[in-house]
Amino acid sequence: MDTLMLSSSEKDLIKASELLKNGQVVGIPTETVYGLGADATNPKAVREIFRAKGRPMDNPLIVHISKVDDALKIAKNIPQIFFDLAEKFWSGALTMIVPKKDIIPYETSGGLDTVGIRMPSHPIAKRLIELSGVPISAPSANTSGYPSPTTAQHVLHDMNGKISAIVDGGECSVGVESTVICFDDSNTVRILRPGYITPQDLQTVAKNVILDKGILSEVNADEKVSSPGMKYKHYSPTADVKILEGNLNSFIEYVSKHNQDGVYSLIFESDVKNFPFKYLSYGDSDLEHAQQIFSKLRELDTLNAKVVYVRKPNLDGVGLAVYNRLIRASAFEIIKL
Ligand code: AMP
Ligand code: MG
Repeated sequence: MDTLMLSSSEKDLIKASELLKNGQVVGIPTETVYGLGADATNPKAVREIFRAKGRPMDNPLIVHISKVDDALKIAKNIPQIFFDLAEKFWSGALTMIVPKKDIIPYETSGGLDTVGIRMPSHPIAKRLIELSGVPISAPSANTSGYPSPTTAQHVLHDMNGKISAIVDGGECSVGVESTVICFDDSNTVRILRPGYITPQDLQTVAKNVILDKGILSEVNADEKVSSPGMKYKHYSPTADVKILEGNLNSFIEYVSKHNQDGVYSLIFESDVKNFPFKYLSYGDSDLEHAQQIFSKLRELDTLNAKVVYVRKPNLDGVGLAVYNRLIRASAFEIIKL
C-alpha cells in the first residue's frame, strides 16, 4: 500500500480520523515520540500495528484518550490515586496501568487483564482522538527494536508501504516515551519505564514511589516481568552502541585506543570544542539529551557508523529515561573507564 503523507490541517486530520475509524493504522505525532495509531477496540486494526512494527504479540499497547472520563469506559476498579495523578500530570507523558474492561481486546493488552492509559498533550494527537471518537492504541511508530521516531520522516523511513498514512506534526518536543507506572497499593506507584515525568514529580502526589528493578538491569527472556516491554531488545540502531562511563579526558583516551574505521562518538555539546575524533553531539541538559537521543542514533546509521561510543548522561530528571533507553540500545554494554 502507498503511505499517504498528511498535514496537520483540519481537513487532513478529518481524513486521518476516517482512516482510524475504518480500522487503518496511521502514524501520529505526540509530544513524546510518534505513535502508530489504530482503534484500540478493534482487534483486527490492532493486529495491523503488530504486523507493521514486527512487535511481539505479548507486548501490550498503550491506549490514548482525550478526556479523563474516557478512562472509565476502558478500565475498571480504578484507584483514587490514578485520578489524583491525572489531575496533576494529564494531559502529558504519564501512562497508568489499571484493570481493563472487555471493550479492550486481548490483542491490545498483549493478553493481560490490564490496560495502560495515557492522555497526550499534543494538540494533533488530541484532535485525532476526538475526531475518531474511539480510544487509540499507539505504540512508538518504529520498527520493533529500532530507535523511536521523533519526526514524520523517521516514521516514513520505517513504515513506508506498511501503514495507510502519517500525519506530519513536526518534531516531538519531549523526545522520549512516556513514564509507565502501575499501582502496588493505593499509595504506592511503581515505575516500569522512566520517562518525561520523573520520580520526583510523582512523589509530589504519591506517598511511595518505587523504581522497578527492570529499569536499570537486564531481564532474562524467560523471567516474569511487570512489563513485557522490559524483556525485548530496544532502541538499537544498526551500529554497535557502547556507553563509556567516566570523564571527558578518559573518554578521549579510550576512543584514541579504539579508533578504527566506522567508529563514532556521541558526546555532549560542551565536549565538541576540542574533540579530535568523528562525533555527533546530543546536547548538554537532560531535556536536550531526551529531545535528541533517538534522532542522533538514527543519524549514526545514515553515516554508516559501525561502533558508537556514548558519553553516559546524568541520571537527574529525564536523564534516567535517556539512560534507560541507552543501556538497552547498547544491550547493557557499559564500559567503566
Ligand atoms: P511503546 O508502545 O513502544 O511506547 O511501549 C509501551 C510500553 O508500555 C511497553 O514497555 C509495554 O510493555 C508497556 N505496557 C503497556 N501496557 C502495559 C500493561 N498493561 N502492563 C504492563 N506494561 C504495559
Ligand atoms: Mg516503543
